[in-house]
Amino acid sequence: MAERIIITLACSECKNRNYYFDRGKKQEGKLEVKKFCKNCGKRTLHKETK
Ligand SMILES: [Zn+2]
Repeated sequence: MAERIIITLACSECKNRNYYFDRGKKQEGKLEVKKFCKNCGKRTLHKETK
């Protein structure tokens, strides 16, 4: 059985958790991506959270 790691991306402005995806392998470092936040109504930086 492969280990599944669920990553949650939260908006850095409103802290809303908008995106979830699973990552097959554990990676080093924190993930930061620009994504659209429905709560803010614009693209914001989303950071990996737990
Ligand atoms: Zn937001």
